[in-house]
Amino acid sequence: MVSVNEDAYDVIVVGSGGGLVGAYVAAARGLRTLVVEKTDRVGGTTAYSGAGLWFPGSAPLRRAGLGDDVEDARAYLRDVVCDPSREALQDAYLAAGARLIDELEQNPWFRSFVHGPVPDYFTSSPGASPTGHSVFPPPLELVEIKEHAGLVRSSLPTERWGFDEGPVVSGGRALIGRALAAFLETGNGTLRLNTALECLLVEDGRVVGIEAVSEGEPVRIRASRGVLLAAGGFEHDRELRERHQSPLTGEWSNGVLANTGDALRAGIAVGAATDLLDEAWLVPGLVQPDGLPVFHTGTRGGIWVNGAGERFVNETRPYDQAGHEILRLHATTGVSHIPAHWILDQRQVDRDSFGGPPDEPVRPEWLESGALKKADTLEELARLIGVPFDALSRTVKEFNGYAQTGVDEMFHRGETVWDQMFHHIVPFAADPRQNFPAKPTPDWPNPLLLPIDTPPFYAATVVPADIGTKGGLKTDEHARVLRPDGRPIAGLYASGNTAAAMSGRVYPGAGTPIGSSMAFAYLAVLDIAG
Ligand code: FAD
Repeated sequence: MVSVNEDAYDVIVVGSGGGLVGAYVAAARGLRTLVVEKTDRVGGTTAYSGAGLWFPGSAPLRRAGLGDDVEDARAYLRDVVCDPSREALQDAYLAAGARLIDELEQNPWFRSFVHGPVPDYFTSSPGASPTGHSVFPPPLELVEIKEHAGLVRSSLPTERWGFDEGPVVSGGRALIGRALAAFLETGNGTLRLNTALECLLVEDGRVVGIEAVSEGEPVRIRASRGVLLAAGGFEHDRELRERHQSPLTGEWSNGVLANTGDALRAGIAVGAATDLLDEAWLVPGLVQPDGLPVFHTGTRGGIWVNGAGERFVNETRPYDQAGHEILRLHATTGVSHIPAHWILDQRQVDRDSFGGPPDEPVRPEWLESGALKKADTLEELARLIGVPFDALSRTVKEFNGYAQTGVDEMFHRGETVWDQMFHHIVPFAADPRQNFPAKPTPDWPNPLLLPIDTPPFYAATVVPADIGTKGGLKTDEHARVLRPDGRPIAGLYASGNTAAAMSGRVYPGAGTPIGSSMAFAYLAVLDIAG
């Protein structure tokens, strides 16, 4: 029997990633707000993230002396998304992001965000900023949030491999820890863990609450003002993946395992329209010794080749663009690009390390597991990975010529401001614990083009992975969920990866996913609060 929860709320927020920030904003407005979270921790994929937030015009950018270039950012979004049907959503996003940061920074828990220079990803589009529009929360000492510290989801490497994180957290964990403390401190916020939305309650055409399974028991909880679906994407739902996204699979996703499209299904069941279900925030995934990929970006050396032994992309290109390119070429060329092979040599491994600290560049588990193959000659390496040696040899020779001149005539690696960011940093090394400053390479004109000529040679595996799906319920500029005829479903809102992205099929800049999660949660609350 379904037990009726008599503690009715004004607002129910389903999911505690970016939605938790929306929940704080609602509770801070005096709305009795319940967050239901499927797992025993708050944070979702947001907690795994770097918590870059793409918020043009926001105060941290102005404090960094970067001025207010919202109109440039608008022109940029228009150009890169190139979809008039999303312009209203983009305008709402741009207005909400800056305003949300202003509002958050009034609370000591959120003081103060800082700008982090990451170029906009389509570097040559009109309005693109070389310093970008990303702002980040400050790190957090976990003791500051006292007993709540244990409720915050751990980082991906900690969850996957048990790495110790230490007492100070940054990025997504800092954002979520701060949001949790701020939310609970309002006195209007309630958190219910281990509570999974199953379906929505509808009365007279209006969503008035949810049915959920809480600690194994079915419950019905009412919300007088609105329900916000902020339960992430469907990255780990096999059926939805197969139907909409093949050959992408949940195993390759870095989204949290709990994101199985529950809110998407609940929305569809009450008549919501959907959009972009074939899309994801794509990334190249570097397959680790445990057989699963991790988000990789900032390739500084070596090359990626397809099944024909040929290069096919600027390997340093922004991750979502590289991910899309792998999928496109795999689908259209008749040549296998999944997996792709990352070919390296000892010179590169010595410079940037691979999987280990500088004094142990290759950890044994990489070789023992076969995640990294090693050979004394390129011919032997080609045999190990099953690509034609003559083609691989030609590809390497051609690339080594580019290394001599410093100009990648084929894919122009190292020519954009994005690529050049990796002259000096090794941001996501093969071992996600490591973050090395780059060693100088004085002998080579382009530090991203080192010749591949020093044995032994290595090959790692790259697959198209994602950091969440980005198609979902269709929403308007107030985050209201829409029916196929464009009318809103009263009382129902969606944000983040539960909603179809305002950025359509592209990833404009660092922080668009969580920016969208927070901004549309905020817009939902503004609408709910009236
Ligand atoms: P989530 O943060 O995943 O939250 C969804 C929550 O809903 C989860 O807690 C889940 O358990 C819960 N849930 C699911 N189903 C139910 C249910 N039925 N009932 C109740 N609760 C439910 N993006 C950026 O913008 N900037 C970055 O710097 C960035 N860095 C990244 C780095 C890494 C390593 C990774 C993996 C991702 C990164 N991303 C980044 C991507 C970004 O983290 C996600 O796309 C984004 O956090 C999704 O936010 P969300 O609020 O939609 O979902």
